[in-house]
Amino acid sequence: MSGELLLNPGPVTLTPRVRDALAGPDLCHREPEFFDLQDEIRARLAAVYELDDETWSPVLISGSGTVAVEAMMASLPADDDRVLVIENGVYGERMTRMAEVHGIAHETLALAWGEVVDTEALRLRLAAGGFSHVAVVHHETTTGRLNDLAAIAAVCAEAGVGVLVDVVSSFGAEAIEFGPAITAVAATANKCLHGAPGAAFVLVRRSALAAARTRALYLDLAGYSAKQDERGTPFTPGVPAFYALAEALAEHAEFGGWPARGERYRRLADQVGNGLAELGIESLLAPGASSCVLRAYRLPSGVSYDVLHDRLKAEGFVIYAGQGGLSDHIFRISTMGALEVADMDRLIAAIREITQR
Ligand SMILES: *Cc1c(COP(=O)(O)O)cnc(C)c1O
Repeated sequence: MSGELLLNPGPVTLTPRVRDALAGPDLCHREPEFFDLQDEIRARLAAVYELDDETWSPVLISGSGTVAVEAMMASLPADDDRVLVIENGVYGERMTRMAEVHGIAHETLALAWGEVVDTEALRLRLAAGGFSHVAVVHHETTTGRLNDLAAIAAVCAEAGVGVLVDVVSSFGAEAIEFGPAITAVAATANKCLHGAPGAAFVLVRRSALAAARTRALYLDLAGYSAKQDERGTPFTPGVPAFYALAEALAEHAEFGGWPARGERYRRLADQVGNGLAELGIESLLAPGASSCVLRAYRLPSGVSYDVLHDRLKAEGFVIYAGQGGLSDHIFRISTMGALEVADMDRLIAAIREITQR
């Protein structure tokens, strides 16, 4: 079966070997075979950024990326903690919603979608005091903006504040410096790691787990970590998604890890960006501001998103709309997944055909 190529920001088009892994044997999740699988995934996740497992616990949770981000947000701030959430897109705003839902004291550093995070403004907010954590999205998939996590973390380290990071659409392809301020990062199988949807994870500093809270039974990060450390699991995991993640992580490592994956994405994204520029289609952000994973483009005049989407789908490509107020102005193309240079050539030719009728 070869469906459309997915150019949306996850789930991605799987490689054949990852797709085949989905059909692994039926497993009871209380048997050693499952715990071997879980141990393998946890070790491979830590290895992606060379983290040692004395300092970091890789915690697996079944569900989409949001479950990992929410488990991190709902568990790590203590009762008298206060979180500053940086918002410059949908996913930062979602972290604020999580703080609201779970009754966590918080304030926001609210920016327009796609705006650069001003680290000087952050420094001043933190200097005013009272914050235990900053919550931020690394790659804001809303616009493709790659927030400068290293600079943000440096300001937080200076202020003695921990950072909770949504790395859902950057883990496995962008540089992530796990400096002293980083408390935890949350991500999912089905973006840059090229796994299937259904498995998500948090890499959390073990020292932060002692103070963790249980604000929701299913989102109890410390509970998952403790169980998984003793080869257990609190609930029924999405075993097929775990099979796929183990295979995807093996493939990721074999092909050079995050630097190689990022480079591959960047080359394909440049190819698309250059091809579209020749058609007069501009990218939303300035050159260099986007992640390697996804770029947002302004819709060409006279072509609605729906027409562009439907005609490209008929040619075998699924592109992605803008969210909220951006939906009438932009479309997004992610270069994650099993995509080749020749696929991008065909994509550009199809867009040329549609826009230059
Ligand atoms: C995809 C994504 C998520 C999670 O979305 P799910 O639909 O729950 O997988 C969270 N944050 C960012 C930045 C994302 O790109």
